[in-house]
Amino acid sequence: MSNLDTITHFINGEKVDTRGGRYGDVYNPALGEPVARVALGTVDEVDAAVQAAAAAFPAWSATPPLSRARVLFKYLQLCQQHTDEFAAMLTREHGKTFSDAQGEVGRGIEMVEFAVGIPQMLKGEFTDQIARGIDAWSMRQPLGVVAGITPFNFPVMVPMWMFPVAIACGNTFVLKPSERDPSPSLLHAKLLKEAGLPDGVFNVVQGDKTAVDALLDHPVVQAVSFVGSTPIAEYIYARGSAHGKRVQALGGAKNHMVVMPDADMDMAVDALMGAAYGSAGERCMAISVAVAVGDAGDKLVAALKTRTAALKVCDGMEHGAEMGPVVTAAAKQRIEGLIGTGVEQGATLVVDGRNYKVPGRENGFFIGGTLFDHVTPDMTIYKEEIFGPVLCVVRLPDIGHAVELINANEFGNGVAVFTRDGGVAREFVRQIQVGMVGVNVPLPVPMAFNSFGGWKRSLFGDHHAYGPEGVRFYTRHKAVMQRWPNTASAGAEFAFPQMK
Ligand code: NAD
Repeated sequence: MSNLDTITHFINGEKVDTRGGRYGDVYNPALGEPVARVALGTVDEVDAAVQAAAAAFPAWSATPPLSRARVLFKYLQLCQQHTDEFAAMLTREHGKTFSDAQGEVGRGIEMVEFAVGIPQMLKGEFTDQIARGIDAWSMRQPLGVVAGITPFNFPVMVPMWMFPVAIACGNTFVLKPSERDPSPSLLHAKLLKEAGLPDGVFNVVQGDKTAVDALLDHPVVQAVSFVGSTPIAEYIYARGSAHGKRVQALGGAKNHMVVMPDADMDMAVDALMGAAYGSAGERCMAISVAVAVGDAGDKLVAALKTRTAALKVCDGMEHGAEMGPVVTAAAKQRIEGLIGTGVEQGATLVVDGRNYKVPGRENGFFIGGTLFDHVTPDMTIYKEEIFGPVLCVVRLPDIGHAVELINANEFGNGVAVFTRDGGVAREFVRQIQVGMVGVNVPLPVPMAFNSFGGWKRSLFGDHHAYGPEGVRFYTRHKAVMQRWPNTASAGAEFAFPQMK
């Protein structure tokens, strides 16, 4: 029996431990030691959560949209009051710096701010008198029980891309958070309950593949939203769709930032430092490739070298921390292995973050900022999503080659161009085959009222996440035609109906 706290499920308004006997360790990556254990859900526990959500659906979907929004409004206020509690959990279980964690919570709260206005988006369209005595309108109705499966890198915000929108639309929800940093899911559950959300509307099943597969296969679950790595996203999309579910599965990324010779170099370097090394590079929108065009390369690499070597890497709770550890020992080993591969394959290692030691945190999963120059598209460090603090510089002669390189990449999540030339930027925006584009903005993560999503192997499914696309994903369109018997009946009609 472990003396660590157990992070449980949350089913029908109550915390519930697993009966399956399987638990996972949850680490504090800065200490490199377990700080809690998490229940790993069974098929029966998934079923219990889905049944609770199904039982709650009739009343919740019949609750007027404004009453649902008012519950979310209270939850919004509670999230604001508990921002630092969420952020401390993030730093403890994920490793990101406390200020970065506060930023994550803020971007999650934004989703709830959007969701409280969703009644406005549930309005249908009405046409009077589409034929004599007949009116038509459309309405959007909730799907039923929907599930969300989320990654380790944004354990507060990414679930909030899903459940506030789903719940505001009248669905009931089962969340399967990442088993690496599961605590925020229970704080969400607690605050939603405190805000007045009826039991069963929001449930959490902790776990791994067993719980995920049980959700994908469960006949009552109508839709699945997934965010995580590309191989798993592909799997989720295939398995969920095969069961007739609506699925949106957001996958991995390899995001480029093009730096033109005329760019404001200080601005570009600042942008790259934050976008490559913020959150130790563990962001799906992190910039992992800087494409230096023409003579931008030498200036860029010289500035990045000094700044990367000087990064303050430490426990994320420390004042002034710029980068914390990566999430697990396995992630550290994998990233350091990829750095070794980069060297073997001929890239120039300008700053080497391997074997990085933080005094007092010797067992932490730290990697220093790492910078490669002269990276080419055939190298493994270019092709694979490293998901760590490793920035690769690719040098190309002109913007045409940069666009060609990026469009040939299998991923299409985020991209940026830094230039002072409006014509270059405009053509770049039009030609680039990527879902989210920044012009002199390194991390173009859309706000809650726009929608988020990549192209190519960064997203499987027809809808992007949150915003208007999220409302469409979590609702079904219905068209209604109505006639009342106050007009004389023309008798039975056997020809296909036409407007008369
Ligand atoms: P992951 O794919 O390992 O895990 C995501 C979820 O899938 C977790 O809940 C996990 O428990 C579950 N899972 C893992 N293996 C599974 C399996 N074999 N079968 C069924 N379920 C499984 O991803 P991660 O390491 O937690 O997160 C990092 C990845 O997520 C990166 O690739 C990153 O780019 C991506 N990501 C993408 C976005 C986006 O918006 N496109 C956002 C955040 C993260």
